[in-house]
Amino acid sequence: MSSCLCLPKKKEGTAKPSIDSTTTSVVQNPKPTQPPPPPSKGMDAIERLKVGFQKFKTEVYDKKPELFEPLKAGQAPKYMVFACADSRVCPSVTLGLQPGEAFTVRNIAAMVPPYDKTKYTGTGSAIEYAVCALKVEVLVVIGHSCCGGIRALLSLNDSAPHNFHFVEDWVRIGSPAKTKVQKEHASVPFDDQCSILEKEAVNVSLANLKTYPFVKERLAKGTLKLVGGHYDFVSGKFVAWEPVIDAVERLKSGFEQFKIEVYDKKPELFEPLKSGQTPRYMVFACADSRVCPSVTLGLLPGEAFTVRNIAAMVPGYDKTKYTGIGSAIEYAVCALKVQVLVVIGHSCCGGIRALLSLQDGAPDNFHFVEDWVKIGFPAKMKVKKEHASVPFDDQCYILEKEAVNVSLENLKTYPFVKEGLANGTLKLVGGHYNFVKGEFLTWKV
Ligand SMILES: [Zn+2]
Ligand SMILES: [Zn+2]
Repeated sequence: MSSCLCLPKKKEGTAKPSIDSTTTSVVQNPKPTQPPPPPSKGMDAIERLKVGFQKFKTEVYDKKPELFEPLKAGQAPKYMVFACADSRVCPSVTLGLQPGEAFTVRNIAAMVPPYDKTKYTGTGSAIEYAVCALKVEVLVVIGHSCCGGIRALLSLNDSAPHNFHFVEDWVRIGSPAKTKVQKEHASVPFDDQCSILEKEAVNVSLANLKTYPFVKERLAKGTLKLVGGHYDFVSGKFVAWEPVIDAVERLKSGFEQFKIEVYDKKPELFEPLKSGQTPRYMVFACADSRVCPSVTLGLLPGEAFTVRNIAAMVPGYDKTKYTGIGSAIEYAVCALKVQVLVVIGHSCCGGIRALLSLQDGAPDNFHFVEDWVKIGFPAKMKVKKEHASVPFDDQCYILEKEAVNVSLENLKTYPFVKEGLANGTLKLVGGHYNFVKGEFLTWKV
């Protein structure tokens, strides 16, 4: 059950499991599993989100107009951060990143695939938007301790058939790191190899970032920097490597503050999470620097497995094009057994604006962005038809919610989601965060 341990088989009694070594190591080294549920678990799932937002609204949003007012007009984040979807490692929490500071992508194991227009539009569109449109200055890739994705990568038996629809394919992005670790640390126990691999996989992602032409160009000009990082929630440490710049100091001091003010003070929250995660929610939110759901909904470490991409879009099931998001959904539903999938749109979403602005038939201006936002095309058609006379900005606002509905429908195309919905173990919830008005809406489907 715990993310640290093993992934379940896709189907009982079919193909030979390819991740035997994980299972074996679990049996040999039993760890405490199943941390106690977070205190909010007694509350209704939607009520919990509303209460979290109200707390944020009254204690943060209303009290810091100097922070939130300028953000209503736009975002100019300095960082783009890649972090794992793991419910314990939200960088807004662990590094104290403030609204507006970091455009954030979260996926399984914080992996950045190499430039590939057909396979990786999700990550590609986010990098392109952050670098070319927002002009971020620093790209930070952050690995973490006990990463289930890294464990899955190291456990993979290359010759065995796949047990998953997506997971193996996605984590294999880190294969060059795995080869290096198995060669250079062959005699080291499995768990220690995992720890080393967590950092080496970050290095592979950093190298992959250089395959994007717009990244390469800005690195050459010196307007962009690459930083690797690793958050160890077992020992309470954060390390960052190369280059040593002010931007890295900012991350380190953010972590120090979190360590002293939160991590060290709440052992009752953090101790149980060292042995595993059992998040109740899987949340899809936009990578926009102003909308981190840990902040706006007060989601605590361990509560929500979180994917962040451009416009919080969920594509329909497609094993060839969408392994990034597919692997995250599969892992959350099949391995972590989350109970609620929440898709959250937001006001002034650049991705939604791009979707509504697209001229059909015109050539693409971007390598990835158009292709990605087109996932919301059915919502665009609906809005254009039903609200044809409404001004562009108002159409955007309607589309932000309709695009969430398209994502919720798309979730139903994943067989493991469909199954969970049919047997009542899974629920779908739509949400919209309006940072101009300070409102949060939810709806069930
Ligand atoms: Zn992870
Ligand atoms: Zn957005």
